[in-house]
Amino acid sequence: MHRTWAEIDLSRIAANFHALQAVVGPDVTLSPVVKADAYRHGAIPVAVRLAAEGAARFAVSCAAEGVQLREAGLTHPILVMGGFAPFEMEALAGFHLTPVIHSLAVLRDYDAFARARSTRLPYHLKVDTGMGRLGTRAELRDIIDAIGGAANLQLAGLMSHLASATDFTTSQTADQIRGFESIRLSLQQAGIEPPFYHLSSSAPIVFGMKPVFGNMVRPGLALYGYVSPATGDAPPVAARLSPALTWRARILEIKEISPGAPVGYSARWRAERPSRLAVVAAGYADGIPHTLSNKGHVVAAGRIVPITGAVSMDLTSIDITDCQGLHPGAAVTLIGAEGDASYSAEDMAREAGVISYSVLCGIGNRVARTYLD
Ligand SMILES: *Cc1c(COP(=O)(O)O)cnc(C)c1O
Repeated sequence: MHRTWAEIDLSRIAANFHALQAVVGPDVTLSPVVKADAYRHGAIPVAVRLAAEGAARFAVSCAAEGVQLREAGLTHPILVMGGFAPFEMEALAGFHLTPVIHSLAVLRDYDAFARARSTRLPYHLKVDTGMGRLGTRAELRDIIDAIGGAANLQLAGLMSHLASATDFTTSQTADQIRGFESIRLSLQQAGIEPPFYHLSSSAPIVFGMKPVFGNMVRPGLALYGYVSPATGDAPPVAARLSPALTWRARILEIKEISPGAPVGYSARWRAERPSRLAVVAAGYADGIPHTLSNKGHVVAAGRIVPITGAVSMDLTSIDITDCQGLHPGAAVTLIGAEGDASYSAEDMAREAGVISYSVLCGIGNRVARTYLD
């Protein structure tokens, strides 16, 4: 029994994986992104299940996340996408992780490190085609020289990352694809042909944007069942996905409040009618955004009901005046569905003024996790 818990349906993640594979086709390798503890769905159970479903490789953000997967027994190629500091090189090599290298200076450092160990280490090179974050912006000539000069490294992939993949009002995506293709072809002409080239996260797959696929794709959010809202004239969604995570919390107390009575920190809510409120065992320390104070909703007894007053660290009050059958110990749903009433991470994000990624990644350590197969 838990005060608050996330129930993760692994069969939905498996179905989402197969739906995404069907969109890209059998010739494109799917590399599930399980960084940030698989967006808090649990990196190990998610990766173990996807491996059983046929996933051939995985992607994470940092070396420590890769080490965690190795220690759980996964032997697949693991791409470390988020850069690394010198002290992380030992873990990358020792645990057979494949880093993405983002600058020619780091390429030379990693090559020197490999030489000192008398080994040859794989890497993917990231080029900045417009994101303006990680990725080299060096001249092509210098990139070619650096790749050729790194005798103790093996270029296993060329990649980039899109800045505006869900924005169909701008030409940025087309510009980035063109820039990436031009670099890929120039490298090819110089005799450099890495086995993988990739620039797609979830959005281009979900919107069926074939020119973005390359021969490998890196979906995160879509595996967990979400599609970011698009702007402009988006193509139809090409994959039917279902959210895998349901977040629940128990009612600790139920109380009657008279009209006019204040509720919570700074008395931000006052009853307008005789009201019945439930105090729920989760707050912003568990990941309910504080900006949902007086604004968000939860699902209780099969209805969408409002949050009353400030979300506090450990507790949140909700108005259950119109609900039947609730009692202390009963559970309400913070993210998920009860019958026809549903409130998704995307709904929570919209009301909180954030994005679904940050809602999922914000689910705290105190929230227990349970798994359905
Ligand atoms: C996080 C990340 C992804 C996955 O993005 P989603 O939008 O969750 O699919 C892909 N590529 C890189 C480089 C990332 O950092």
